[in-house]
Order: sequence, then C-alpha cells, then structure tokens
Amino acid sequence: MRYRICIGNRVAVAGGDMMDLPVPKKARVHRLRVLAGECAGLVARRGSTLLIIFGLRVFYRTIAQGTFHCRRCGGDREFRHRAGRRWFTLFFLPVIPLNSVGEHVQCTTCRTRYVTDALNQPTTAQMQAALPAGMRAAVSAMLRSGDPSSLVSRQRAIEAVIGSGVPGYDEAMLAADLLQPFEAIRPALNQVGAQLTIQAKEWYLAEVIRIAMADDPLTETERHAAMAIGVDLGMTQAQVVGVVAMTEQSAGRD
Ligand SMILES: [Zn+2]
Repeated sequence: MRYRICIGNRVAVAGGDMMDLPVPKKARVHRLRVLAGECAGLVARRGSTLLIIFGLRVFYRTIAQGTFHCRRCGGDREFRHRAGRRWFTLFFLPVIPLNSVGEHVQCTTCRTRYVTDALNQPTTAQMQAALPAGMRAAVSAMLRSGDPSSLVSRQRAIEAVIGSGVPGYDEAMLAADLLQPFEAIRPALNQVGAQLTIQAKEWYLAEVIRIAMADDPLTETERHAAMAIGVDLGMTQAQVVGVVAMTEQSAGRD
C-alpha cells in the first residue's frame, strides 16, 4: 500500500519517492519525513500548509463461512469466503468504493487462500458419508434388477454395505433401501463416483456385480443395471464392460 502525502501543490509518496520531489523548505521536509515514516497525524496546519494523506487499499468482507477441505492442512477446517473491493482512502479510512477485486476462500487455521472452486471439493466427513451411501444405492439397484428375494444375494449385499462403513446394516435397512426409487438413489452414486479413482470405481462396481452373481450368472437385466451403476459412478461404457468381463472370469475360476 502506498500513501501520498500532499503539501499544497507538492506531492510525495510515503516510503521512497521523496527524493524526486521539488525540495520543500527544511521544516516541511522534516514534517514530511515524520509523516512518511510514522504515518502519524491527520491534518497539520502551519500558515497555509495543509497535509492530506490519501491512497488506495483493498478491503475484504466475509460473505460466508463454513467447513471445507484445506489441502495445506490436510483435513476439514473452517473457512471464510471473502469478497474484496478497492477503496479510495483518506487518512487511512475507506471513503469511496472502487472496483471489485474478486473473491477467495481462506482457511482460518493456516490462512492459506484458495480460489472459490475449493468449496466444490468434498470434505473428509462428506467423503466418509458418501462411500456407504453410494454402496447402499448400488446394491439396492442391483438387487432390484435381479431377484430381490434371493437370500444369498441379500446376504452378500448386506456384507458389502457393512464393509463400506455401516456396521449396523441389516435386513430391515436393506428392505427400506429397496423401496427407494432408482432416481432417488442416483445422486448418491454420482457423489461417490466423483470422489473415487478409476481403480476404486472398478473395485466398487465389481463388488456390486458379485452380489448379482451370488445366486446365478448375470442376467441381461443385471448387465444393464451394472452399466447404469457404472455410468452413474462416472465410468465409460467400455470400462464397465471390462469390469463385468473380469468379474465373470474371476467368478469362473473360483
Ligand atoms: Zn488450512
């Protein structure tokens, strides 16, 4: 930040440009140096001399707060979403608002600033919740495409959901999940798919396919369900076909 110091029609910039100016009288130079070095004093009058300090400065205001995943801290932290605006200042006080200088997100712990896209990244807590929610959605979609009453498939589905992080998952919860329409559970698949690497997506889909294959070989309807689940996880059709083939081959060797 640079402040200008004016004396009558003479102008100096605090902090370095004093030597380029018309040389004022000795007493005025002393006053300028005091103001430039200490930024002290508002208006000083001596005879006809008037000192005014003005400049430009960016001020930020917080427009939102919450929790996000800070890459530098490596965990969930509180953030401030701030918008900045440049102001004309008079005696260090903002007087006239000028142009906007954009927004950023700042971690309140490490003070690191990020572009606002950082808020689109899921928090650790959201990721932990998304994994079991996605698995519940996937197993119920797959079970309904085959025989939802198959005891061996239901048992395998329950084990898959427990393994994804829901230790208390049981028959009653599975029955409730099976009543959910497919359109209602698709967001859970999209959310978990956005967080998984391609290898993790393939593992995730293979786990679901093995549920359908627990009783019988895959039916055509179950293949279509696997394709729909894979696409909702963010996989290409070729990737899904590859996972289905590898899972079937693996089951054939068992
Ligand atoms: Zn941080």
